[in-house]
Amino acid sequence: MIVNGLTKSLTERVSTGNPLIIAGPCSAESPEQLLDVAKALRADGRTHYFRAGVWKPRTSPGTFQGVGVEALKWMAMVKRETGLPVATEVANERHVYEALKHGVDLLWIGARTVSNPFTVQEIAEAIRGVDIPVLVKNPLSPDVDLWEGAINRFARVGITQLGAIHRGFSWWGKSIFRNQPYWSIPSSLKERMPNLPIICDPSHIAGRRNLVPIIAQRGLEQGLNGLMVEVHPSPEHALSDSQQQLTPDSFVALLSALQDLQRSFALPEELLAELRTEVDSIDDLLLWALTNRMELSEQIANIKSANSLPVFQQARWGQVLDRVVQLGGGKGLRPAFVKRLFSSIHKESCFVQQALVEKKPAKSEKQVNFISSK
Ligand code: PEP
Ligand code: MN
Repeated sequence: MIVNGLTKSLTERVSTGNPLIIAGPCSAESPEQLLDVAKALRADGRTHYFRAGVWKPRTSPGTFQGVGVEALKWMAMVKRETGLPVATEVANERHVYEALKHGVDLLWIGARTVSNPFTVQEIAEAIRGVDIPVLVKNPLSPDVDLWEGAINRFARVGITQLGAIHRGFSWWGKSIFRNQPYWSIPSSLKERMPNLPIICDPSHIAGRRNLVPIIAQRGLEQGLNGLMVEVHPSPEHALSDSQQQLTPDSFVALLSALQDLQRSFALPEELLAELRTEVDSIDDLLLWALTNRMELSEQIANIKSANSLPVFQQARWGQVLDRVVQLGGGKGLRPAFVKRLFSSIHKESCFVQQALVEKKPAKSEKQVNFISSK
């Protein structure tokens, strides 16, 4: 039984301006757990697809890897009992056959799988000729070409109901988010593929229950076309992603808050905290770039020392400055600022080089006297 015209195509659904809503537990754990969530979602009536992971791409062996084919039978039962179409992740050809055999209505490709073009191609070939919606998550790295390439592999085998899921990107620095949102990446995908529905997975971006609402709201404000949210009857006992799953009640409350256009529940402090976290991760990147630059500068000092070349070389400095002022200007940075910034970096670099050449420990700026770079 199909309820509420749920068979509508993805494009048709999002073109009405209604966000596409996919919800359900991270993993299928038992028939009761699935039914518990699905019944609550069905009663609320705003969820279009019920999700559950059957094969779980876990970071470490020995952790819960998903129930496998048995859980597909539970998904079929959920569909029979509630009328909700069901969705699951497929990561190889066999998963596709099993999922289709058990009547799964929507397939998604996980972030780890999307990072491997051979696997994406294998899955695309397995789906060829089947009219089923396919949603492609972003790869782990913020690589829009790889994401677009994976989507095109599905387009080329004739999948017409295609969409993307923004689930954030891996990051080695510290952050309050599990995966960095880097909103500019889904925006570039939208620019390249304007008709492609892109939905937001705030659960995997946030990694923490209390941050899911703010990311969900931000995703919709960014113009994304829907949400995929992890919902579990008892999140703290979940066998995977227990920190980030919502109870059915809090999920329903979230949908209502999002629907209430007058009310923004992202308090200014929360929004500020989110933006500051993004700033912090960019600062980490700046420091990473500076330490790498300094290491290269030290290697250069050894060559200068061995060949009796001066540390400060006016012509080279002139080239460095001209290049960055021009590049920065093109990106909207004021030339005076770029000049000040790079003069300071260059000064420190010369200071460290001079200390290396003189074989002195680089203690304080005052101890080493070299030609200052302006
Ligand atoms: C998931 O949706 O449960 C999942 C494993 O997602 P991702 O591929 O984004 O990590
Ligand atoms: Mn998960």
